[in-house]
Amino acid sequence: PVFEKVNICKLLNDIAVLMEGQLHSKSVALTLQLPEVGCYTYGDIAQLKQVFINLLKNAVEAVPHGGNITMAVGKYQGMMVVRVEDNGNGIPPEIIDKLGTPFFTTKETGTGLGLSVCYNIIQNHNGQIKVSSQIGKGSVFTVLLPLAEDEC
Ligand code: ADP
Ligand code: MG
Repeated sequence: PVFEKVNICKLLNDIAVLMEGQLHSKSVALTLQLPEVGCYTYGDIAQLKQVFINLLKNAVEAVPHGGNITMAVGKYQGMMVVRVEDNGNGIPPEIIDKLGTPFFTTKETGTGLGLSVCYNIIQNHNGQIKVSSQIGKGSVFTVLLPLAEDEC
């Protein structure tokens, strides 16, 4: 992996553009809540893109037609916090601990690899992923990443 200074806000905007077709075909409204000044971490752009594409894809797959997804960037206790929130079907509490296991899927044609890739990449970036979810209400995947020293 090639580590460089990454503006997560720009990265999320790029992903939103990349996913426009999939969002549109399900009439999903994606809201981006981004600080205008940008928010920076050190990382591998391609890998970090992969993380947020996987999380956004899962959110799109979880929501009904016309669903809502929010991606928000903020700071908490010296870390960058990126929340990917959906109003989809939610995740049963008994499977939350299995989500990062390779090949674990509840989807008929799922690979079960998306989240295991996300967990690995974020771990290699000295970050963390937290999940909270309510059945029938939706899910929040929270990604914590170190802030680049001189920013935010
Ligand atoms: P896949 O998408 O191929 O099933 P993932 O590793 O991306 O594999 O996700 C694993 C499982 O986690 C999914 O099958 C689904 O049960 C659950 N999951 C992940 N994200 C969400 C979400 N946003 N809402 C509900 N369930 C989710
Ligand atoms: Mg997936």
